[in-house]
Amino acid sequence: MKIICIGRNYADHAAEVNDGAELPKEPLFFLKPDTALLRNNDPFYIPSFSNEVHYECELVVRITRLAKCMDVKFASRCYEEVGLGIDFTARDLQREAIAKGLPWELCKGFDHSAALSNQFVPLAELGGDVQNLEFEMELNGEVRQHGFTKDMLFTVDQIIAHVSKYMTLRIGDLIYTGTPVGVGTVKAGDNIKARIGGHTLLDFDIM
Ligand code: MG
Repeated sequence: MKIICIGRNYADHAAEVNDGAELPKEPLFFLKPDTALLRNNDPFYIPSFSNEVHYECELVVRITRLAKCMDVKFASRCYEEVGLGIDFTARDLQREAIAKGLPWELCKGFDHSAALSNQFVPLAELGGDVQNLEFEMELNGEVRQHGFTKDMLFTVDQIIAHVSKYMTLRIGDLIYTGTPVGVGTVKAGDNIKARIGGHTLLDFDIM
């Protein structure tokens, strides 16, 4: 199982973390190892190597059909339900990696950096259109991120077509589809909640 994460897939967020940089011309993706998963609403422990861990709430698509060089027209056959996740990011290490042209494994792929909802909701129950969903993330009871999937720079189907050109997608692979504007740091004692279509899928504490 692999975890594919899309970077800068919402223009407003791309601007907030990378002022002035060009928007990507094709989906920008990176991987997290399976050891990054954090499930069951278990608490997230801030790692000692970062002073600036950010939450990034994202719609997560689980692949339900093998996909290799998938045509964008048929990509919607590869998923049936969506969940929510947090792409935890050591922003200080990421800034350094970007400045030095280094890979992102340290800042993005550390243990438990991929919080994932246990529950996935059938798309049919949410209206059927993956590009017409709305999700929300709260920090300590205050809404910080409010995502509309229609604002994605690259649709889920375009992401699947692009990624599957380079690496085969297998059943169970997860795609974190990018974060909307509103990311920020977490500190011990914080609580994160995230919901979609009336389901609170994430509710866990930061330690
Ligand atoms: Mg992200």
